[in-house]
Amino acid sequence: MPIYEYRCKACGKITEAFHRDLAKAQKPACEACESKTTVRIVSSFATPKTEAQVMEQYGVPEPGAGPDAYKDPRQIGRWAEQRFDEMGVEMPAEAKQMIEAAREGDLPDPVKDL
Ligand SMILES: [Zn+2]
Repeated sequence: MPIYEYRCKACGKITEAFHRDLAKAQKPACEACESKTTVRIVSSFATPKTEAQVMEQYGVPEPGAGPDAYKDPRQIGRWAEQRFDEMGVEMPAEAKQMIEAAREGDLPDPVKDL
């Protein structure tokens, strides 16, 4: 059974939880302060997704966002950040780095093609 890690937004402590089925899993309360504001940490062993799959799934604008979605570099990745936030999942560090790089004008290859 996979172990998932949750970081407490209140105190920053990590709480581990076992889930048979992540889709049905409840987020655990923080072990240290019992806050329920925990976010799942996506670690390499807990997710089978590759960086490319993550970007493909979360790093592109919504359908209908239009060609203007990336005109403002500060908009790059905002949608992806919102998606992760809605899911209560912490964005992988690699994805954050790609977004930061893109905002600096260093677009990753898949985004250049949009
Ligand atoms: Zn806590």
